Amino acid sequence: MKRTKIKILLSSPATGSDVLVKGWVRTKRGNKNIVFIALNDGSTIKNIQIVADASMFDDGLMRDITTGACLEVTGELVESQGQGQNVEIKAKTIVLYGKSDAESYPLQKKGHSMEFLREIAHLRPRTNTFGAVLRIRHSMAFAIHKYFNDKGFYYLHTPIITGSDAEGAGEMFHVTTFDLADVPKNKDGSVDYSGDFFGKPANLTVSGQLEGELGALAIGEIYTFGPTFRAENSNTPRHLAEFWMIEPEMAFYDIEDNMDLAEEFVKYLIRYALENCKDDLEFLNNMIDKGLLERLAFVLNNKFIRMTYTEAVKILEDSGRKWEYAVGWGRDLQAEHERYLVEEHFKCPVILTDYPKAIKAFYMKQNDDGKTVRAMDVLFPGIGEIIGGSQREEDYEKLLSRIRELKLPEKDLWWYLETRKFGTAPHSGFGLGFERFILFVTGMSNIRDVIPFPRTPKNAEF
Ligand code: ATP
Ligand code: MN
Repeated sequence: MKRTKIKILLSSPATGSDVLVKGWVRTKRGNKNIVFIALNDGSTIKNIQIVADASMFDDGLMRDITTGACLEVTGELVESQGQGQNVEIKAKTIVLYGKSDAESYPLQKKGHSMEFLREIAHLRPRTNTFGAVLRIRHSMAFAIHKYFNDKGFYYLHTPIITGSDAEGAGEMFHVTTFDLADVPKNKDGSVDYSGDFFGKPANLTVSGQLEGELGALAIGEIYTFGPTFRAENSNTPRHLAEFWMIEPEMAFYDIEDNMDLAEEFVKYLIRYALENCKDDLEFLNNMIDKGLLERLAFVLNNKFIRMTYTEAVKILEDSGRKWEYAVGWGRDLQAEHERYLVEEHFKCPVILTDYPKAIKAFYMKQNDDGKTVRAMDVLFPGIGEIIGGSQREEDYEKLLSRIRELKLPEKDLWWYLETRKFGTAPHSGFGLGFERFILFVTGMSNIRDVIPFPRTPKNAEF
């Protein structure tokens, strides 16, 4: 007999025929005559109930069926007598694949704190919460590829190891094969990279954007979806040292087209989640965040507010609030400011544009006012910045002068500059932090709990 997944069985009628399931025991209860086992195989948040007549099975086997044990069960798929499920399995054979010591298995029935579960990240996928998060994460990754593929965008693989910190987005992780106890030095004491693997300094990428632009200026519309690395020492619920980013980049898009795409894209993903992850979202709405489904529907059904950074600063200044970080034209917005705008002032997602050039990256298109650039940040409830993007500077001279002004390594950027020399074009793009988006869709509150194995300062276990 072939195995059937529990998700399939739970949506099928009580056929009375024999089925075979495999999974892990969530709970066992009953008495010396009859035993009820809740079995889960990860295909759905729901368990299937196995009913075993104890007289048909070995006493030792029955004792060894404890929370966490792995079983193969065959039996008849019958209508359930109990509440909470339509069908259950009347067991005929049970094979114990793996015992689970009742004394030491850490996932007992009582709820555990998120902090504790992080310490057992190898087992936490077996909880309802993490099972739900991982299934939703998968569905969102799939929907991202589907959305772009259906729109005619190409998935471009940008490098993970890069030769320069062109973007200056954050501290970078160094990549080297040097023996760190014996690093070759030049006469002046600096590191001699000529003998290193790449013959020059190399780092893990902080963003695929610059290479993404090369793709857009050749094949039109591309997106990247890969891991990015930032060695920033930000111990916040919204920062990871290793996170996944989606970066579409489009030739012939201006900032308005860019905003339209960003809004359509995130709404598509939310709709996809509501349609395809119903059971998991309902569970999270009940157990983690009672406002989740309402918030998802709200974002889906409302047009995002669009305004300039300058207008937003005015609202913040006029709010009469006491801020932890000062507000003022020219200062970057902090999460507390972004969340005030979204959660209290507008009560709606907000797209801010036209930021001061001094607080944004060199490649953003310069406005005629000489002070601002065509940047756009999308701000979400509970999160703050979820997307950062811009129209890119396509003018060679303007781009070069900005690179010089900021004393960026001009010679490392020769290839990037050449795109503005040979057939430059207006183009735009943005980056969506995948985990920040998963935080929003799941209602989880810490970014460490929406990635299977989080990497944060002083933490690279598992
Ligand atoms: P923040 O100000 O919140 O640190 P950022 O300005 O550094 O963000 P960008 O460089 O614009 O962010 O990156 C694009 C997107 O990547 C952000 O909008 C956010 O969703 C996500 N992101 C940035 N840094 C991190 C991080 N350390 N961990 C997880 N996601 C991140
Ligand atoms: Mn940052």
